[in-house]
Amino acid sequence: MRHNLSQRDAKHIWHPLTQHKTHAKSHALSRASGVYLYDTEGKAYIDAISSWYTAVYGHCNDRITGPVAAQMQQLDQVVFSGFTHEPAVRLSEKLIARLPGNQEKLFFSENGSTAVEVAIKMALQYHHNLGAPRPVLLAFESGFHGDTFGALSVSGLSVYNGPFEGMALEVRRIPVPRDAAATESLHALERVLEEAPVAGFIYEPLVQGAAAMKTHDPEGLGKILLRVRESGALLIADEVMTGFGKTGTFFASEQLPLSPDLICLSKALTAGLLPMGITSCSAAVFGAFYSDSIEKGFFHGHTYTANPLACSAALAALELLETAEMQQNIARITASHAEFARKVSQHPRVREARHIGVIFAMDLAVEGERYGNLRDTLYSFFMDRGVYLRPLGNTVYILPPYVITNEELQKLYQALEEVLEFIR
Ligand SMILES: *Cc1c(COP(=O)(O)O)cnc(C)c1O
Repeated sequence: MRHNLSQRDAKHIWHPLTQHKTHAKSHALSRASGVYLYDTEGKAYIDAISSWYTAVYGHCNDRITGPVAAQMQQLDQVVFSGFTHEPAVRLSEKLIARLPGNQEKLFFSENGSTAVEVAIKMALQYHHNLGAPRPVLLAFESGFHGDTFGALSVSGLSVYNGPFEGMALEVRRIPVPRDAAATESLHALERVLEEAPVAGFIYEPLVQGAAAMKTHDPEGLGKILLRVRESGALLIADEVMTGFGKTGTFFASEQLPLSPDLICLSKALTAGLLPMGITSCSAAVFGAFYSDSIEKGFFHGHTYTANPLACSAALAALELLETAEMQQNIARITASHAEFARKVSQHPRVREARHIGVIFAMDLAVEGERYGNLRDTLYSFFMDRGVYLRPLGNTVYILPPYVITNEELQKLYQALEEVLEFIR
């Protein structure tokens, strides 16, 4: 049956991030529950990356699906230009109360990339509306911000944007801070600020997800943020991956000395149930658009903006995240990762082990292409052991659902240790 579905899939479906000529057929799943994914043959896999950082409360959690099912009977979809509704308003009140204190307004869209597009456009138009246009954006090397044109422009991973380099927005890049002094980054930043009118700086706070969970120095990042703010450019925190507890706090930005002007949210925002993105901003950003002249408004809107079902999923997710139970889960996983990182970092085949919040990553002491053979070998190694994760080159990382038990967590660690004996 699984084989059959995979074959039918291959006939008409073009999968994301896939070279179909060399890639094996897609693996057919039939259901998911809690931390487990089940394939059509009934084999269970622990979802060690929460399905790309979304399903952090476990799959098909009835505390999320229940309220959404009820909402489905009530109000399904509205045109958000002109109409509003209870789930959106309640979500705005609850989320603003949780976001860094300077955040004032939410702009809804449909995914992480659109949340980034919106933030970029807001930053550019902000300066335009103030009468001093600044056409350049600043980003970190090897950052990832999504696949739409604006988002890929600010992304620095060539595997994603190589063919489009130079075709989109004007972006300058600086290296991530290596230490608290961030000397190299600050020098690069000074050079950029001298040469280019920078509208905004977009960054993944504390950890770069798609760059293989590369963490960087919070103090060093703080210094960069301070200098960027001094220059009048806006700070755009892309918390699409880091948001909603991943780094141990509700938002990674809380661990930094400055609150961003704009924040991008998606992924765990809706607990893996429905797609939605949000761009939040400060009163000062909103103020630059608030005017008697219509053209100073923000003319951007997606059809499914603030879809009531997605809003009710986000609301239920936020309520769940606030429970003592979920906060304890996050603390438990964080402590557990720290202990495992200490243990495994001594291993001769571990080049580096790092962890922040519920994220654990280790670089294997072998060379590997990001999407090459090693990746496929590692992927199959874990799948054979009932663990679903996606290695990036020679980095293996996990970001398990918060509801994972200690036993299941140990099973993940065990698989990670076994791979060290397996690789050569
Ligand atoms: C996944 C991701 C995005 C893009 O989100 P999509 O929903 O896949 O468009 C943007 N920024 C970061 C940091 C991400 O991890």
